[in-house]
Amino acid sequence: MLTDKMREALNKQVNAELFSAYLYMAMSADFTDKNLAGFANWMKVQAQEEVTHAMKFYNYILDRGGRADLMAIDQPQAKWDTPLAAFEEAFKHEQKVTAMINNLVELARVEKDPATESMLKWFIDEQVEEEANADENVQKLKMIGNDTSATFFMDQEMKQRTFVDETQENSKE
Ligand code: MG
Repeated sequence: MLTDKMREALNKQVNAELFSAYLYMAMSADFTDKNLAGFANWMKVQAQEEVTHAMKFYNYILDRGGRADLMAIDQPQAKWDTPLAAFEEAFKHEQKVTAMINNLVELARVEKDPATESMLKWFIDEQVEEEANADENVQKLKMIGNDTSATFFMDQEMKQRTFVDETQENSKE
């Protein structure tokens, strides 16, 4: 059984992952509005990934005999001035999520819950990737600056991203 504290914190994380999905959907919608279909695609795939993160926490709570309490999801911002501004926020957001995962690990140790600590390992590794991906896009967009043809080229490249559910076992290399 999960302790009350652990269960509450994991439920909060379900909400945080769903907010991440909402935030990236908002970014995707804003990119679509600005005719940047590739950036919109990248963010939509990112949102899909976040839903699988929420489900991984949700399923884990249930597997441990806990109750999943679903809380209201905050409304995300709707518009960003530039692709760089959106990706800078995405990067900042992922750093925040990493800190939340680290806090969950701390709590699992305090609560003497090695099963939760073990489950969280997947998320620790995932966050390294998430931060790296967001930062890579920030760096590219900084290089591009106001160059519209380079922005167009990057938009084309971002169209290539497809959704893979990495929470399914053995799908990670
Ligand atoms: Mg996530």
